Amino acid sequence: MMKKKNYLLAACVLGACALQTGNAQTKQLEGFSTVSNQKQTELEQKFDKLLQSSSIGANIKELSAEPHHLGSAGGKRVADAILKKFKEYGWDAKIETYHVLFPTPKIRVLELTAPTHFSATLKELAVPEDATSGQEGQLPTYVAWSADGDVTGDLVYVNFGLPEDYKQLERLNIDVKGKIVIARYGRSWRGIKPKIAYEHGAIGCIIYSDPKEDGYFQGDEYPKGAFKNEYTVQRGSVMDMVVYPGDPLTPGVGATDKAVRLNRNDATTILKIPVLPISYHDALPLLSALGGSVAPQEWRGALPITYKVGGTGKATVHLKTEFNWDIVPAYDVIAKIKGSEFPDEWIVRGNHHDAWVNGAADPISGQAALLEEAKAIGQLVKAGYKPKRTLVYTAWDGEEQSLLGSTEWAEDHQIELSQKAVAYINTDGNSRGFLEAEGSHAFENFVTEIAKDVTDPQTGSSVFERRKATEVVRAASAKQKKEALTNNTLTLGALGTGSDYSSFLQHLGIPTLSFGFGGEGAGGEYHSIYDSYDNYVRFKDPGFVYGVALSQVVGRSVLRLADADVLPFDYRSLQKTVSKYLQEVTHLADQLREDNTIENQLLTAKSYQLAADPQKGVVPPKAKEVVPNFDFSSFKTALDSLRKSTNTLFEIQEKLNNVSDKKKDKLNIALFQAEKQLLIPEGLPRRPWYKHSIYAPGFYTGYGVKTLPGIREAIEESHWQEAKEQIAIVTSAVNRLNAAIVNAIQIAKEIQ
Ligand SMILES: [Zn+2]
Repeated sequence: MMKKKNYLLAACVLGACALQTGNAQTKQLEGFSTVSNQKQTELEQKFDKLLQSSSIGANIKELSAEPHHLGSAGGKRVADAILKKFKEYGWDAKIETYHVLFPTPKIRVLELTAPTHFSATLKELAVPEDATSGQEGQLPTYVAWSADGDVTGDLVYVNFGLPEDYKQLERLNIDVKGKIVIARYGRSWRGIKPKIAYEHGAIGCIIYSDPKEDGYFQGDEYPKGAFKNEYTVQRGSVMDMVVYPGDPLTPGVGATDKAVRLNRNDATTILKIPVLPISYHDALPLLSALGGSVAPQEWRGALPITYKVGGTGKATVHLKTEFNWDIVPAYDVIAKIKGSEFPDEWIVRGNHHDAWVNGAADPISGQAALLEEAKAIGQLVKAGYKPKRTLVYTAWDGEEQSLLGSTEWAEDHQIELSQKAVAYINTDGNSRGFLEAEGSHAFENFVTEIAKDVTDPQTGSSVFERRKATEVVRAASAKQKKEALTNNTLTLGALGTGSDYSSFLQHLGIPTLSFGFGGEGAGGEYHSIYDSYDNYVRFKDPGFVYGVALSQVVGRSVLRLADADVLPFDYRSLQKTVSKYLQEVTHLADQLREDNTIENQLLTAKSYQLAADPQKGVVPPKAKEVVPNFDFSSFKTALDSLRKSTNTLFEIQEKLNNVSDKKKDKLNIALFQAEKQLLIPEGLPRRPWYKHSIYAPGFYTGYGVKTLPGIREAIEESHWQEAKEQIAIVTSAVNRLNAAIVNAIQIAKEIQ
């Protein structure tokens, strides 16, 4: 499904391009001895030469030629085609099949029943400029994991449908209980909107694409331009995957044919109310019919109407949904090349292959880069290359329905993965623009080194320089720009969810990276019938040159991790990043304490009543809770110890050049296993599947990451006692990591 990002970036300007770049010929790669460094550099040069943009383009065309969602004949054909390619490339490949729940629509009805009658079309239009847009076999416009339901009720516009929007509605005296809400796409993962609507008592939820976020306000509409036209609809999943992703019936275990399954009614991640996504063509009559207060200014979109909040009984809608709740096969393609020295250390690399419809961008552009890497590595192997560690290349099915294929595979193989997986490297679609890199922070220097070695196809600078330039230009203040200019490291983003890395990182604690290029290929094709080859070659990556760049970035990551003498984990970066997160949550608590104190003073002084228009009946907000003080001192002490130990470890790692590989292996195992110490055995509050103490998707943001999630969300949600408990829990996790680093130092000293 892939997280959507909006970069508003200028090209490389002024002095920003003058940032340092590396030199692949002379540079000493982290983790390689002088001899192996030379070998690795030559290997990567050969690898680069084997990558062909034309073959990436051909694979995108072939694999997006027909609709290929989970459970479809097209989906099976795509899985088989990928299997065949891996075999041709010389990999040991097979399909592993899981049996997962997958709802497809039987009945979809949305009509305005008062004050006038209007039936929603619920259909996208084929256009002659897009050869595959009118094909048979497309899934209708809908969201998976909506409940079956038949409801009629008063309509309320809830803006983006987020917690703060409901606070606004409260001040306008509008309650959504027993009503149907309409929210616009944007600001959060879509599944959060119906979840919050349900928590507030709504009986149905409609999500529409407003032209302000995605349509004529942004640029020309498809097919003239890339943005949504009147009828385009974003399909998607609304599973409550921030509780657990994957098959709703088999949490924590692989959905094999023998797995014990929950009753569907007991699966907490399936929504309790009907939900439908619609186009702005279908939303316009609904929104136009609303009465009540004029919507707050920031709630207004780009439709030619006065946006009102409704909830007055003037506009009523009928929403009916019914689904086939089938169990369908999910085909994960798994391909391996066995490591010559350390076969039980795995470098796992994945991208999904299923799409909502044709999915040229999401996911096939990423899948084509993955296949290009696999092809090149296969050719290197045929010419005599032997990776030291085992390579596991994966093409996941059922990602769009909330990471079904990857989650079931990771759960099914969890014991083996916990022992053997050195890292998981993910992609999920690709386009023109800037390198996006997120993941485990011990990899920050590793990724920086790689980004400096890969050339940006449009400018000839390194992808590091281009990315750095965007950070400098985007920085909000002169102070931040100065900081960005002097920072010669690529800042890794933290991972929330929204793609196949979730199980590996957040459930199993496997060090993870996720890559893609983007920022210059914006458009409205996402999860619609227009995510096609014709669209891709016009608006996403003409010439497929960023496909090659992605293969270069990921291929280097895979090859260096496969062959490093000492695995390039640098936990100093993780320590620095977690220290920054601690500062953030400390600031969050202090800020909230001050905000709430002042808000309560305003309430006591009746300022809200006096400042409001008495004719509009706006009510003051509710009194705020008093925020207690939190003691972060033990957490700080733990991070202090970690700073010292990670510095010591790094110094010793640097000196291990002449030690034999076999001896180093004990240290390598300690290095890649260390991140698992950050797992919380009992998991996060109210969602035990998520076990990482540093990274999780936000409970009320979805894709958006919450770092130090246990502490941060407890403060945000005013769970004061829980915040105190979570500080202790995270402190213990950091102390466990510190002990693992101290152990690694001991091992390193012994083998020196
Ligand atoms: Zn995707």
